[in-house]
Amino acid sequence: MAKEKSNTAKLDFKLEYAAAPESKSSAKINSKYDLFINGKFEKPESKKYFDTINPATEEKIATIAEANQTDVNKAVKAARTAYNNVWSKMPAKERAKYIYRIARMIQERARELAIIETMDGGKPIRESRDIDIPLAANHFFYYAGWADKLQYAFPNKKIAPLGVAGQIIPWNFPLLMAAWKIAPALATGNTVVLKPAETTPLTALKLAEIIQESDLPPGVVNIITGAGATGAAIVNHPDINKIAFTGSTDVGKIIQRAIAGTNKKATLELGGKAANIIFDDAPLDQAVEGVINGIFFNQGHVCCAGSRLFVQESVYNKVLQKLRDRIETLIVGDPLDKNTDIGAINSKQQMDTILKYLKIGEKEGAVMHQSQCSIPKKGYFIRPTLFTNVAQSSRIVQEEIFGPVLTIQTFRTDDEVIEKANNTPYGLSAGVWTDKGSKIFNLTTKMRAGVVWANTFNKFDPTSPFGGYKESGFGREGGLHGLGAYLK
Ligand code: NDP
Repeated sequence: MAKEKSNTAKLDFKLEYAAAPESKSSAKINSKYDLFINGKFEKPESKKYFDTINPATEEKIATIAEANQTDVNKAVKAARTAYNNVWSKMPAKERAKYIYRIARMIQERARELAIIETMDGGKPIRESRDIDIPLAANHFFYYAGWADKLQYAFPNKKIAPLGVAGQIIPWNFPLLMAAWKIAPALATGNTVVLKPAETTPLTALKLAEIIQESDLPPGVVNIITGAGATGAAIVNHPDINKIAFTGSTDVGKIIQRAIAGTNKKATLELGGKAANIIFDDAPLDQAVEGVINGIFFNQGHVCCAGSRLFVQESVYNKVLQKLRDRIETLIVGDPLDKNTDIGAINSKQQMDTILKYLKIGEKEGAVMHQSQCSIPKKGYFIRPTLFTNVAQSSRIVQEEIFGPVLTIQTFRTDDEVIEKANNTPYGLSAGVWTDKGSKIFNLTTKMRAGVVWANTFNKFDPTSPFGGYKESGFGREGGLHGLGAYLK
């Protein structure tokens, strides 16, 4: 493995922490989950089940139903009946009450949901506790507020819901993505058939329990589990009016082809390869923290992760040293431990993908710097990784790795970095670190990215729209824009 020699004295600010594991006892997990259709948990017509495992221990957590075409038909029928007979007729302020109730119930069960999210997906408990679950509740609160005010959101327009929405979500933010999809759909009077990812179905199924307890009319939300074939059956179902998808660009393209020529509306939130840019006038320590958060948050399984770092040449050595020092302090390990910074990679399959890219990087001549931290023997873990000596054309610079892997390049002028930052098929997000407001405005107007953060990174809020350009997809979720995507 090629290693670069460091040119400044190494800082030693490592602290030893006693283990602080979150107890699993507050999480009630059944050994088997059926499909949530028409307000009830029903056995799958397929008679098939699959296992969901804990990626930190490789142990099975529960058995999950696999929905086939007949199950999808049942779910869509339930959603259509609920739409026609109940939900589209209900006064908006009544709809809002249900959405508020779901938000409050998520808050009440936040601890349990955080533990389950961490066990099923591998993310650190600190993140699921402080970010995923509170944000999921906030999305329901935010859109509950809009339900009876849609005429103010779209003044002088005659608006109507679309009907039945088919929603397919990925494994990186399971409950949060379910909230992003379900809350605006309900607020605008649509009904829903949602499929969580195969590797992380549990919090969506817990949400199904919450929805059942909330007394939401049966069929308004249906949550069915399965793999890609189940997702495809939703996409191709003739009685679905809208597809909302978050996931890979490849599957996004399949979906776009599948719905071409139909009346189905779609929003696709796909991959990313965000540039994070540090100018020489930036507060460097703050910028380094932002870069660390930008790429190692959620093990780098983030579509808007700041995976391409550009550093102005005059501060490159300083920034690189600070980054190398900082990654040595990151704790990789048990996701349920409150000290853990980087948890488990979501699945064996994703770990293999990331390891493949590490090999590609080295083959391309890049220099790899990995932290020396210990990692658990069992489970899927990868040390935080930096690559220097990369080119614009390197595959590790161009392709989405979706793991804790950062590439670092330099630049001299604003024009050069704008050119380099935009030289990607993606256009989801970007970050800029500088002391000068004028530089921020210059860059934000020239970067082809849906979200540009200035002197911060990975900040999310239900009031603010999110979505991409180019191969990062189309349509916006969040904020007012997120309502528009569910209305005609
Ligand atoms: P996918 O795009 O395959 O998965 C996203 C969702 O789509 C899942 O629920 C999946 O089901 C479902 N799905 C899969 N195939 C189809 C289909 N033909 N029609 C409809 N739905 C389908 O992502 P992967 O999990 O395979 O991850 C692969 C790569 O995608 C990652 O390495 C990463 O680069 C990128 N990715 C990007 C995400 C983002 O937020 N931008 C999120 C996740 C991945 P199931 O999981 O059950 O197979």
